[in-house]
Amino acid sequence: MNFRNDCLGSARVRVLAMAPSPSRTFFHHEREQKEEEVLMIYLDYNATTPLCDAAREAMLPYLNRHFGNPSSIHAAGRAARAAIDDARDKLAALLHAKPGEIIFTGGATESCNLGVLGLARCASSRGGHIISNKAEHHAVLNAVEHLENREGFEVTWLNVSKTGMVDLDQLANSIRPETKLVSIMTANNETGVIQPMREISQICRDRGVLLHSDVVQAFGKLDIDVSLVDAGSFAAHKFYGPKGTGFLFLRSGLPIEPIMFGGAHENQRRPGTENVAGVAGMAAAAEWVLHDADAERQRQAQLRDDFWTRIEKVFADTQQNGDPAHRLANTLNVSFIGVDSETMLMALDLEGVCASSGSACMVGSVRASHVLLAMGLPMESARSAIRFSLGRRTTAEEIANAADALERIAKRTKEAREYALA
Ligand code: PLP
Repeated sequence: MNFRNDCLGSARVRVLAMAPSPSRTFFHHEREQKEEEVLMIYLDYNATTPLCDAAREAMLPYLNRHFGNPSSIHAAGRAARAAIDDARDKLAALLHAKPGEIIFTGGATESCNLGVLGLARCASSRGGHIISNKAEHHAVLNAVEHLENREGFEVTWLNVSKTGMVDLDQLANSIRPETKLVSIMTANNETGVIQPMREISQICRDRGVLLHSDVVQAFGKLDIDVSLVDAGSFAAHKFYGPKGTGFLFLRSGLPIEPIMFGGAHENQRRPGTENVAGVAGMAAAAEWVLHDADAERQRQAQLRDDFWTRIEKVFADTQQNGDPAHRLANTLNVSFIGVDSETMLMALDLEGVCASSGSACMVGSVRASHVLLAMGLPMESARSAIRFSLGRRTTAEEIANAADALERIAKRTKEAREYALA
């Protein structure tokens, strides 16, 4: 008896037979709705977010009329340069930073790489000590591992607790005279767990060690205080801006070693012609997402908690992963014990629900999440984890419909199990 196929099969029939109904919520931008209505409930906002109207409108002039290269000195170039300068000023103002502290990059991975590699290499051309956390995103994890394996750095990997919190005593005790850099994410992409950045910053400041933080999941969802860090990585597509655009906040006066070689762009810190439309869209999205952020946080937390209440009722053996008291309002990571993540994701997909088994970069991989394993979850719980992440367009109706879908999946799972045992 192939439990998995049976579990999924009946769902497929149901979805194919289901006509788009006005009660289902559509995700597409209003102007596109009539053209391509897609039946789906998108609960994967930590993977990426849709472009907000403000970002789209800010981008259009630089995709059309103002196509100049911002490094050109003629009028077309100056128009593009003005957009870059304006975006830098806006982002700096939103973060209470200085415009020169914003370095535009090609997104989160590049920002994290620049922050980690650039600061570590600048502090020490060969060797030194770095501290990071086992539950970081691979954009930091693999950059730090590269320094460890290829460039002679020694690394202390901090443990996280069962609820995903970094061990502050271990951090303080791990700092040595030769420690060059600490890199700890503000909020985890899989569990939403928020680290105590104020305390982490204090420990690093007291000991004179540089601190980089991957702020990618936190911006727009938490109040960010960049004065706590020396460097922070951001990505537009996580806050309703375009993909392929991000920035690194780098504290004024701090030198950094570029990780790419080319022109003198971004004050000789990141070469390459700037993504003008992307940068303009990112600044507009940042302004947009911070508007009403508190109310939105409360709304999403309520929906998330309502969803969990329904899930708990339907699935006998579930658990929430990540500290409920220190967690992004939009994130719910659940282990459906006994149903592997891939099977559940496919069943949800056939029901029109988009979720994730963790970091989007792990899609296609059946490996259990390194984040959940670092938290000490048993393999069975780690391999059955699903991340639901809500966003600005998530509605109560969508949450109710997603819970109904889970109820149907639970019923089919139970039936398939009983059949397999018979
Ligand atoms: N850091 C965190 C916390 C993330 O969630 C992600 C993406 O999921 C990244 C870094 C890498 O982002 P990108 O793939 O957009 O470069």
